[in-house]
Amino acid sequence: MESIARLAHAGTLLIVNAMLAAFSSAFFFSLYFTYPRVKKLLSVRLWGFSYAAFAVGFGILILPAFHVSFPTLGIVGNLSIDTGVAIGLVAVVTYLNLGKRYLWVLFPALVLAAIETGIVLREGENFRWMVIIGGVLTGMVTVVTGIAFWRCTDEAKRSVARLIAAFHFLWALMLLVRATWWAFHPLASPNQDPTSTFGLLSRMLLTWVIAPGVLWILTRRLDAEMIRYASHDPLTGVFNRRVIWEQGERRVAQLGEGEGDLAVIMIDVDNFKSINDRWGHDGGDHVLVAIADTLRKHVRHNDILARVGGEEFMVLIHHAAAVQDIAERMRRAVEQESIVMPSGDRSSCTVSIGIFVASTSSANKSWKGIVVAADEALYAAKRGGRNRVVLSSNTTSFMSVTVND
Ligand code: GH3
Ligand code: MG
Ligand code: MG
Repeated sequence: MESIARLAHAGTLLIVNAMLAAFSSAFFFSLYFTYPRVKKLLSVRLWGFSYAAFAVGFGILILPAFHVSFPTLGIVGNLSIDTGVAIGLVAVVTYLNLGKRYLWVLFPALVLAAIETGIVLREGENFRWMVIIGGVLTGMVTVVTGIAFWRCTDEAKRSVARLIAAFHFLWALMLLVRATWWAFHPLASPNQDPTSTFGLLSRMLLTWVIAPGVLWILTRRLDAEMIRYASHDPLTGVFNRRVIWEQGERRVAQLGEGEGDLAVIMIDVDNFKSINDRWGHDGGDHVLVAIADTLRKHVRHNDILARVGGEEFMVLIHHAAAVQDIAERMRRAVEQESIVMPSGDRSSCTVSIGIFVASTSSANKSWKGIVVAADEALYAAKRGGRNRVVLSSNTTSFMSVTVND
């Protein structure tokens, strides 16, 4: 440890730590302020404050190098760093929505901080007690912060969250080793701390891993949100027209290469205008959400349900077998559902459904043509009296028809 101490001067490491913390704080605050207004995350601001507290703490510990000193400088600097650790815990618990029970550890931490301050005020700064009590205090909060990161359930973020957690556990272990050294080393002098280089190097490593790791997690979240905005209908949460169009065109291309068959189910709510008239536009929206939820239950894993118009839905069925059964189950499920409106009243509605099946042997190999054929079947269902399923028998004549998309 002493040879490392000779290599890396503690004062230099304090400055590097202060700078790293200040940069990290600035990153978090700029992320906070550049987020769209409605998306501003409290946790991002908390991480900004956490790193600001680290920067202030390390900054205070540097002061003697500039001939600025006061008797409680060490404890003030250390408490500022401890505050940063505590805010870091609140930030991750807030970000992952983990519940307040994780924050209980802050109470014993506060008691230890009070004891540490009491000792320093009575006896003057004593490295031994400051390292032991401060180490236990920070160690406890760090372990709980590590556990919080470890509990991240989101698959996309889990690997990085676990890496961050592992570094928290390492840091806690380092604090334990350092506190134990001070507790048992007979030569430990209260006026100098040979373990501080070790501590500061680990702290640097921790900041170096955690700050970019957390930033990475946050930008992953932003990416996921953007992908969701681009691919889903904001009202009902099912896919939007863009997604089903892309997938449909891809499937049709496969069909051209001689792969299996596909079906398109076109669904339109019957007399939806009268639902809007009766319940208002918001009531109509509520009904649309309920219908989407009902339809979703009948869509198989690989198939795609999308909202393609105001009260029109579409399903891309990758393998056409049993498509009529699926459509019929959807129709019946909507018909039988009693929708509870926000007012508590009940409403119900029906849907008309058109189906078109395309296979490698069909004359039609164009996605637009398939959609138009399914639409024609849907209008046949409307003409036939609504609340029914019509399977298109039209396999050749739609090639000349075009749709606007
Ligand atoms: P049918 O399909 O059985 O022929 O009758 P319809 O009353 O459903 O006919 P149409 O397709 O002409 O009317 C659809 C109505 O859906 C018109 C429009 O005001 C309403 N609408 C479209 N988009 C939305 C929406 O996002 N929310 C609500 N609440 N209503 C919508
Ligand atoms: Mg319509
Ligand atoms: Mg309609």
